[in-house]
Amino acid sequence: MQTLRELVASNPASGPTVTVIGGGVAGMSAACALAEVDFRVQLIERRGYLGGRASSYLHPGVNEVIDNCQHVLFGCCTNLLGFYRRIGAADRIHWTSEMTMIEPGGRRSTLGPSPLPAPLHGLPKLLSAHAFTIADKAALARAFKAMIKLGTADDPGEKLSNWLRRHKQTTGAIERFWRLVIASALNADLDTIAVPYAAKVIRELFMNSAEAGAMGMSSVPLSELYASAAEFLTQHNAKVLLNGKVESLSWDGPAGKWTIETRTGALTSDYVVVALPFEAMGKLLVHMPAAKGAETLANQIAQHQHWPICSVHLWFDREITELKHAVLLDREIHWMYNKGLLQPWRKLNGSYIELVQSASRRFAALPREQAIAQALAELAEFFPATKDARLEKAVLVKEVTATFGVPPRIDEARPSVKSPWPNLYLAGDWINTGWPSTMESAARSGHLSAEALGAYAGKSLQCFEPDLKPHGLMRFLSQSSARR
Ligand SMILES: Cc1cc2nc3c(=O)[nH]c(=O)nc-3n(C[C@H](O)[C@H](O)[C@H](O)COP(=O)(O)OP(=O)(O)OC[C@H]3O[C@@H](n4cnc5c(N)ncnc54)[C@H](O)[C@@H]3O)c2cc1C
Repeated sequence: MQTLRELVASNPASGPTVTVIGGGVAGMSAACALAEVDFRVQLIERRGYLGGRASSYLHPGVNEVIDNCQHVLFGCCTNLLGFYRRIGAADRIHWTSEMTMIEPGGRRSTLGPSPLPAPLHGLPKLLSAHAFTIADKAALARAFKAMIKLGTADDPGEKLSNWLRRHKQTTGAIERFWRLVIASALNADLDTIAVPYAAKVIRELFMNSAEAGAMGMSSVPLSELYASAAEFLTQHNAKVLLNGKVESLSWDGPAGKWTIETRTGALTSDYVVVALPFEAMGKLLVHMPAAKGAETLANQIAQHQHWPICSVHLWFDREITELKHAVLLDREIHWMYNKGLLQPWRKLNGSYIELVQSASRRFAALPREQAIAQALAELAEFFPATKDARLEKAVLVKEVTATFGVPPRIDEARPSVKSPWPNLYLAGDWINTGWPSTMESAARSGHLSAEALGAYAGKSLQCFEPDLKPHGLMRFLSQSSARR
């Protein structure tokens, strides 16, 4: 990592420079792809570490390294996985194909693949799941079938809650599947989710193939995972400037160069990739030159809304379950991750459990003690051993600007990577990738932006990873999802 002065002084005189603003997954994936084909890349990040909304830190209150929240990925996250392969981090992901659902009281059901061809591979376990009645299962099968062919152009104005009513979903199917699995994957209420986004999650996670639906979790803290990106950049002669909040951008037309003003000084660049979340892009926009289309971009940004995610981190003096992770039904906490088992290098004497509440506006408003007490009480309903265990320490993390929502017609407010300014490209999870607010959307935007910049600058650059092909019968049933 370098200071701004070292960064300016160390840049050799030849070859086009690209400045990537924002060190989240979008910025890192764009920077690494560009550095690999010999652009002189400089990555500027406001904070003292890379990772953005997917990062970890030493929590001073408990003296433990924790993620800002458990992040999961799936086999269908082709661009995120391509980025991990590029930086040498792909082998740090723990994969599982089974999802254990637990009812209060402890009764378990397991969803997961069988040898049947897609999309039937998940059917045997769904049919034997105690969590759903026969009517729930029939309703889910009907809805899955209807969602096979739904594309992004279908029903752009319909809310998922309405679609579920039209497709006669039972209360059990809504509460235990749609609200829990789908609304939590999209981190929003059923009332504010556009149907094509729900259909995309259903197809990718449950129908296209067992490979696409496999779930991955990092076996190291997120910042350690993304430290591989910093190493990759250094090995490719790129520069990383931390604690470098960008405050304004100006364009010198005759020289064909951008000047980037940071809190600690200025640097120039031939090209820029702005890889910021929508709200930070909105703040920077007013400190950028006037351009035709900038107002449209500002209007698009104004249409986005944040959704919170909370996580409760608990350290006990003993194990309370042998499960590595589980979906918890009918309560406010949704997901349990047994971090001690997922990250065995922690060598704990007891256990470290992380509980996640998605789309948790009510939970996010609770005071710390109350939120932790509620999470503990709910946990004990699923894992009775919690009652005998001693809680040694606890942390509540509230991320109130975790993700953006995907309400009907949101795609109209998601710009492409091409910006209204010359030599400047956009990236970030909110770019129009067709994916919800995820690390995959961020990596897609980074790769699309790097490819567009490379093509404009006359460098051959292919980093965008295509979608996985559906398997089995899904090869004939599904529409191929378009590359944007
Ligand atoms: C609690 C939580 C749980 C989540 N769970 C999941 C999950 O399970 N799976 C999943 O796929 N996704 C999950 N997400 C979403 C995922 O983290 C984001 O979609 C993704 O990380 C966004 O990456 P990004 O690069 O687009 O933006 P960011 O990660 O926000 O990166 C932007 C970077 O720009 C920097 N920056 C801002 N302003 C400036 C400036 N002026 N100058 C320089 N730098 C600046 C920021 O500090 C930040 O590092 C979760 C998010 C949160 C918060």
